[in-house]
Amino acid sequence: MGKQYETVIGLEVHVELATETKIFCGCSTAFGGQPNTHTCPVCTGMPGALPVLNRQVLEYAVAVGLALNCSITRYCKFDRKNYFYPDNPQNYQISQLYLPICRGGSVEIETGEGRKSIGIHEIHMEEDAGKLIHDQWEDCSLVDYNRSGVPLLEIVSEPDMGSAEEVIAYLEKLRTILRYLGVSDCKLQEGSMRADVNLSVREAGTEGLGTRTEMKNLNSFRAISRAIRGERERQISLLEEGKEVVQETRRWDDIREESYAMRSKEDARDYRYFPDPDLVPVAISEDWLEEIRRRQPEFRTEKMARYKKEYPIPDYDIEIITASKHMADLFEETTALCGQPKKVSNWLMGETLRLLKERGMEPEDICVSPEHLAGLIRLIDEKAVNSTAAKEIFEAMFDRDVDPEQYAEEKGLKMVSDEGALRRAAEEVVAANPKSVEDYRKGREKAIGFLVGQTMKAMKGRADPGAVNRVLKELLSKK
Ligand code: ADP
Ligand code: MG
Ligand code: ZN
Repeated sequence: MGKQYETVIGLEVHVELATETKIFCGCSTAFGGQPNTHTCPVCTGMPGALPVLNRQVLEYAVAVGLALNCSITRYCKFDRKNYFYPDNPQNYQISQLYLPICRGGSVEIETGEGRKSIGIHEIHMEEDAGKLIHDQWEDCSLVDYNRSGVPLLEIVSEPDMGSAEEVIAYLEKLRTILRYLGVSDCKLQEGSMRADVNLSVREAGTEGLGTRTEMKNLNSFRAISRAIRGERERQISLLEEGKEVVQETRRWDDIREESYAMRSKEDARDYRYFPDPDLVPVAISEDWLEEIRRRQPEFRTEKMARYKKEYPIPDYDIEIITASKHMADLFEETTALCGQPKKVSNWLMGETLRLLKERGMEPEDICVSPEHLAGLIRLIDEKAVNSTAAKEIFEAMFDRDVDPEQYAEEKGLKMVSDEGALRRAAEEVVAANPKSVEDYRKGREKAIGFLVGQTMKAMKGRADPGAVNRVLKELLSKK
């Protein structure tokens, strides 16, 4: 009988903050600039250049700490983490070791096994590094410092997770909270959220922690799940063979589905940390803390409870809509304009989710404006467009936020309300399809479906199916 093992996982999550400027200088954090155009003496590490803390970064860090039930360090400092690497022009990274901004929080997660609280060990502020480009020239590497100095929060959990399912629930919860706060867009694929997985195994039922490894380069939930499974198995085989797990940093290769050692794990002392003498310590006043607390948004749990009271829509819809603050805002603002929550929700639950999936996008990327969605709902209510046309209009709104009225007009999608035209088309269809007419008159009610279809076709789809039905029945009842 083999031994049973349990997995122990703690996460270090780096989140890129959505500030306009970098953490210690006024350079832009915008993506996609020409290499080394968003740089200055501070973020390229020129001797004598002095960093100044971006107030917005501190405010975001405090807001995140409050949302994750942490205690806020009222007197916090920055430290230098010394290491040499060409993407790090100062030869040290400004980070926080001794007095991080937040400590001791928790996040509630829910999995198939029930609720669980995951401890937050600490959150600290630090700067991102530049980017090395190795494949452009054969004989040299290039460096782009545009990302150097972009603000990061590192959120360090306690080793409280026991499975890939818990890890993903934790990351999703974290992402929802951070997006509700508007502090980061948290995209794993684009690197604005990065998770390093620390994992060890131990014999089931024992208390102590086994030796862990840290895995990097995990940029999707799928990669995270596979890496956890792979690393757990690798460590168990080592132990079963009587070998030891080496504490090291490993890189996950999601194509080969294997991890390989990158470097032996450094200790804090290897970095020769010391307080950064260029930055003054930060004192956070009670007033300012109170002000940030007051400005905290309504989070998902509270929003769900309020929706249940305010809107007559299914709980399932509420769950999907509130998973994204952006979608929830769109829902509320559109409902305020048109007063029809269920119809708004139907557009979100149906076409919106379908298109998001088809385009590989996230709810945060929806560009439809509340005015236009309310406008489309009105066009349908007024029977100015039928449901097929409405879907076509919605797709254009989804891609380019077009004005539905104008778009319907331009594309000729408005229904023909001219009863005369409809009657003429229906008469022609009746005359051209004696077989179906006979069937219907013999009592095969379904035969009318074909005639409706033909009439809609003759009207180029721009007729109200209800009206077509009515006119046809009228014609067919006459002998
Ligand atoms: P370092 O700063 O050297 O990376 P920390 O002690 O700060 O190390 O831990 C980093 C992360 O590793 C934390 O998320 C922590 O929960 C996790 N961790 C620490 N020890 C273990 C272990 N034995 N097994 C799994 N995870 C661990
Ligand atoms: Mg670490
Ligand atoms: Zn700069």
